[in-house]
Amino acid sequence: MKKAFPAVIIILVLIISFFGAKFYTSRWGGRIPMVIDFIQNPGKHNDWVMPANTRCQNAPFAYPTDGFLGFLWHDSFKFLDAHQGLDIFSGKEAGEADVFAAYPGFLSRQPGWKSTVIIRVPQDPLQPDRQIWLYMTHLADAEGNSLIDPKFPEGSFDVPVSQGELIGKMGNYSGNPLAPTGVHLHFSIVRDDGAGNYLNELKIRNTLDPSPYFGMQLDARKAGRAIIACQP
Ligand SMILES: [Zn+2]
Repeated sequence: MKKAFPAVIIILVLIISFFGAKFYTSRWGGRIPMVIDFIQNPGKHNDWVMPANTRCQNAPFAYPTDGFLGFLWHDSFKFLDAHQGLDIFSGKEAGEADVFAAYPGFLSRQPGWKSTVIIRVPQDPLQPDRQIWLYMTHLADAEGNSLIDPKFPEGSFDVPVSQGELIGKMGNYSGNPLAPTGVHLHFSIVRDDGAGNYLNELKIRNTLDPSPYFGMQLDARKAGRAIIACQP
């Protein structure tokens, strides 16, 4: 009993420091300061912006908009929370930056989707025996006026789109007009359930690391605060 006591203290200290460090990095570390700086002074950081439709070497996907890759896959904003996709910031107003299809596929927009589309890719270019889905959101202004191109009205189902085709404009709709997000595009690669349906994109385990699809380091745990560019 007496011997166990210091070990318990040490374990407690280790546990507290582990979670304390996680809390600190999710709150104040990581890429949050860069994103705030970009949103406040986009003109100062033109060199952080990657042009739309950039394709890195042999990577299959094209960059879906003009903008700064702010938050990455596995970024953390809240304690023990992991971001399922990419957040690309244009530094412009809602409705000003074009959003394009990263890869050819079939676009659907469910009834009630003001700001969201999903593109079905029947053959994952990196693993052709499976289907994947490209989920894009925040294509509406703060009040919820859709910025999705009129050729994709609500209820659109499996409409063929080509790589680089215009999908809509970047917005800042959060669902709550009083608390819009910064103007950005959220893009994620969502797994299929094996029966032809997309899984819940809010769970990180249902999403794929976008790095090999774009030829960029897009895993926040490896990229840190780097300005993202094509990998050599
Ligand atoms: Zn996001």
